Amino acid sequence: MFNTAYLDLPPLQSAAGTVQLPGSKSISNRVLLLAALSRGRTVIHDLLDSDDTRVMLTALEQLGCGVERGVAGVPTDVAITGLGGGVPKSPAKLFLGNAGTAMRPLTAALSVLGGDFALSGVPRMHERPIGDLVDALRQLGCQIDYTGNDGFPPLKIGTPGLKLDAPIAVRGDVSSQFLTALLLALPLVAKQDIHIDVIGELISKPYIEITLNLLTKFGINVKRDGWQRFTISQGASYQSPGEIWVEADASSASYFIALGAISTTTNSSIRIEGLSENAIQGDIRFVDAARLMGAQITSGANHLEISKGAWPLKAIDLDCNHIPDAAMTLAVMALYAEGTTTLRNIASWRVKETDRIAAMTTELRKLGATVVEAQDFISVTPPALNAWKAASIHTYDDHRIAMCFSLAAFNPASKAVRIEDPKCVAKTFPDYFETLFSVVKPSSVPVICVDGPTASGKGTLASRVAQQLGFSYLDSGALYRLTALAAKQQGISWDDEAGLAKLAAHLPVVFEGQTVLLNEDDVSELIRSEEMGMGASKVSVFPAVREALTALQHSFARLPGLVADGRDMGTVIFPTAPLKIFLTANAATRAERRYKQLISKGISAKLDSLRADLEARDLRDSSRASAPLKPAEDAVLLDNSGQTIEESVAFVSNQWQSKLGV
Ligand code: C5P
Repeated sequence: MFNTAYLDLPPLQSAAGTVQLPGSKSISNRVLLLAALSRGRTVIHDLLDSDDTRVMLTALEQLGCGVERGVAGVPTDVAITGLGGGVPKSPAKLFLGNAGTAMRPLTAALSVLGGDFALSGVPRMHERPIGDLVDALRQLGCQIDYTGNDGFPPLKIGTPGLKLDAPIAVRGDVSSQFLTALLLALPLVAKQDIHIDVIGELISKPYIEITLNLLTKFGINVKRDGWQRFTISQGASYQSPGEIWVEADASSASYFIALGAISTTTNSSIRIEGLSENAIQGDIRFVDAARLMGAQITSGANHLEISKGAWPLKAIDLDCNHIPDAAMTLAVMALYAEGTTTLRNIASWRVKETDRIAAMTTELRKLGATVVEAQDFISVTPPALNAWKAASIHTYDDHRIAMCFSLAAFNPASKAVRIEDPKCVAKTFPDYFETLFSVVKPSSVPVICVDGPTASGKGTLASRVAQQLGFSYLDSGALYRLTALAAKQQGISWDDEAGLAKLAAHLPVVFEGQTVLLNEDDVSELIRSEEMGMGASKVSVFPAVREALTALQHSFARLPGLVADGRDMGTVIFPTAPLKIFLTANAATRAERRYKQLISKGISAKLDSLRADLEARDLRDSSRASAPLKPAEDAVLLDNSGQTIEESVAFVSNQWQSKLGV
């Protein structure tokens, strides 16, 4: 996950490959509960790993179910051995975090089974209403008390005196989760036919369809008259299907479906594993909308494959009421369509994580699009080629805004897109950007070069900038230091160009964060010695050594970008880098910094001799024939003699931001 203040996406060009998406949240917690209530052991494949599923698993363990995590070594596979008609362990105090998908159905199931249970959650959970469900359950004789505020968790549940002959009334116009909770709980006590009547117009029908569909897989066929009456037949009983696969999340899939439509080339495609066109989640109907816009989509038993169809995409005018979340992705696809796309009947966007109609309008306009917004629709007309703008996209703590706007990085004008607060994707898809980066190809990976003489503070500056941007970091000096160390260890002379080059071409080195491993030994400290600094300076004179280390240095350039420090980053290794900083400080300042650094590590040092060494090294680095130390022609000079590190970092950040134009 990118835990940075923002994430800069360079212009992206194409995409190809396979992605595995996280499991659907709605399906994961329903399946866990169904498996827990069934007879037998159920292996659940591809379970979503999230806060909500974790609290559910812990609760099920407390209630006496068998829980095996990571079945056969697969972290997303979990086996549950159900209660199978037995009674849950009691008394039990269950903490359910902020998981509505655990609180509601467990309340229903435990109150019909009976026992002594206390259910609570985080403070926010205690503000989420549950009164309509409790009212429905009390009608049938369940014993439920509010131990905090009336109408809200926490709850205390006792033993019921069940009366199931009259139909049970439940409101359907507030949340469909109350009906889902009853549908999951009542098969446990179906000694006779049980009727549930929905009061009011049922909302979120696709979620009820998921519930009904999963009930069927666990042996329960619910009869339904329209969306008003549901009947559970006498004698219904839960049976484990043995194993079950959680579908990949269909809303998350929309970004990769759109990606396939926008960015594949004639011979490439995007394959999404874990989901088919017959998925039971409502948002799967996004495939129809994407097809209308021109996407070429085929479906296998458990995958989707998307390739380029019409290009540019076709503008559409569509009622999106049935796919409100995924429809946001259509609004960004509209940037690649010919004409104006109108998405209608989306008033619910206004009451989601943020006012999504307002947010989409503001952010699409930043890119140069013409947008009309109304109470329940949005119209998007893409910018002309020369009107596209680089933009910093505000994300409103809304995961979907962050994910869908990443697709704007394919714009034909090659403008960069900055996504603010990228970690907001954690709500449903913590590794969204990593997954995206695994299949997209940029025009080029952005590299920021920081070159300069020894002890100028390049390393600190470059690694801080890398951290701020979420970029990788290359300390190229370390590679020369490692070559010198490895040579010393193997008895190769620092004058033996051919021997050193052979060694450098296959350095057994691994970088793990701040740690550098050579032959699996931690040499992070060892290579920092003055001796290895001098050795590096000697071995780096040889063109064959420099050549041997080139490919290794290039391999550090990965999305979203790289900050590389050294002597020749801007001149030789990354000559087309968009930003090159040449960092200097006067010799006295540098000698003093190095002196303090060594003393603070308990290494004794003399200021005079440090300065002499440093000047000798500068001379060798800048006078050598091969890749001498000098500023690239297009480098920005920065003398940090009188600057704090924060000031230098801010200088580079500003330079970078103005390069991007965001
Ligand atoms: O930056 P650092 O002090 O770790 O580098 C050690 C030595 O490696 C430098 O003095 C220089 O001679 C050599 N070097 C180089 N090219 C680079 C990085 C370092 O020649 N890109």
